[in-house]
Amino acid sequence: MTQDGHEIPFNRAYRTGRETAHIESAIESKHLSSGGRFTKLCEGWLTERTGSERAMMTTSCTAALEMAAILAGVGEGDEVVMPSFGFVTTATAFVLRGATPVFVDVREDTLCADAELVEGGMTDATKAIVPVDYAGVACDMDALRSLAEARGVMMIEDAAQGLMASRDGRALGSFGDLGALSFHETKNVTCGEGGALLVNDPDCVERAEILRDKGTNRQRFERGETAKYTWIDIGSSYAMSDLNAAFLWGQLEEAEAITASRRTSWDRYHERFEELEAEGLVRRPIVPDACVHNAHMYYLLLAGPDARRQVIDDLDGRGINAVFHYVPLHSSPAGRRYGRAAGELPVTDDVSERLLRLPLWADMPPETVDTVIDAVRASVTRSARVR
Ligand SMILES: *Cc1c(COP(=O)(O)O)cnc(C)c1O
Repeated sequence: MTQDGHEIPFNRAYRTGRETAHIESAIESKHLSSGGRFTKLCEGWLTERTGSERAMMTTSCTAALEMAAILAGVGEGDEVVMPSFGFVTTATAFVLRGATPVFVDVREDTLCADAELVEGGMTDATKAIVPVDYAGVACDMDALRSLAEARGVMMIEDAAQGLMASRDGRALGSFGDLGALSFHETKNVTCGEGGALLVNDPDCVERAEILRDKGTNRQRFERGETAKYTWIDIGSSYAMSDLNAAFLWGQLEEAEAITASRRTSWDRYHERFEELEAEGLVRRPIVPDACVHNAHMYYLLLAGPDARRQVIDDLDGRGINAVFHYVPLHSSPAGRRYGRAAGELPVTDDVSERLLRLPLWADMPPETVDTVIDAVRASVTRSARVR
C-alpha cells in the first residue's frame, strides 16, 4: 500500500542508490548553495548531452520558464502563443511579466504544438512561441523553428518532460532559443523539485546568469571578469542548491538505465494494447518516426468522458491509480482571465476529456504492468458491451 491508498500508485520516485553518498559529499565540501561541484557536474552533463550552448540548473522548470520570459523581453501588450494542452506554469511564467498567453490547439496525433496551429494564433503583438513536448515526444521542430525565424519571434521550448528524448538525433530542449527541463518528482529523472534552463542562443547566456543570481554580476565577479560585485539588473533567486544537484547527479549518472527501464514497461503496454486499439476500444500514443521518446508517460485515449470515469473507478477498485491530464488552460478560470483562445480548440477539448495516464515508473515489475493491462482490458470491454 502506498500513501494514497493504492497498491499500484501512478508514480513511484526512483532511487538509484547513489544519491545519499553524493549528498554526504556535498555536505563535507561545505558548499551547499548553488554553483558547487555537483551543480557543475549536472550542468556539464546536460550541456554535453543536449548540445546546448549552456545549461543552468534552476530551482524548477517553472523558474527556468520565468527566466525565459524575462530573456524574451515580454511585457504588457505582448502576446505569447502556446498550446492550451500544456501545464499551468507554461502560461504563468509569461502572465507574471504582464504578457497575454494565446492558447492554440494541438495536433491530433502527438498532442503537441503544430506550426500551422501556432501560426494561426500569431498577431503583430506576438513576441514568443512556446511549444510543449508532450509526453517526451517532440513537436515538429523544423517547422516551428522556421516559423519563429520568419516572424522574428523567440522560440521557448517547454521540454519539462523531455530529458533523454530526441528528434532527428537532436535532444529535446535544444531546438528553441531557450529550453526548459524539469526534475520534479513526477519526471523521469528527479531531485524532488528542480529544473534547468538550456540557453541555446549564445547572446542570452550573460543575462541569464545575472537573472538567476538575484540580478547581480556574481558569476562574472567569481570568474574575475569584473572588479565589483553589485546589483545590475532585475532577477530572482532561481539557482539550484548543490544539495539538490548532488541528489540529481546520482540520477543523471543512471539516466540511460532509468530511461531503458521505463521504456520496457512502455513497450509492454503498447504491445499489449494493440488488440484493444484494433477493436476500436482505445487509441494508443502515436510517436513519429523522427522521434525517440523517453517513456515519460503511457496514456490511452478512451471512447469519451463516461468511459474514462468508468475505467478510473474500475482501476481504483482494484487498487490501481490512473489519472487524467490536463484541464485545458484556455478553459481554466485563470486562463480565461489572463489569456485567450485563438478560436475553437476541438482537439484539446476532446482529448482532455478522454485521456487516461497509466502507472509507470522505473523498475516497475512486468507483472504489475500486466495487472494494469488486464484491469484496463476488463473495464473497457465491459463498458463497450454496456453501450
Ligand atoms: C512538470 C512540468 C512543468 C513544471 O515543472 P516544475 O519543475 O515542477 O516547475 C512545466 N511544463 C510541463 C509541460 C511539465 O510537464
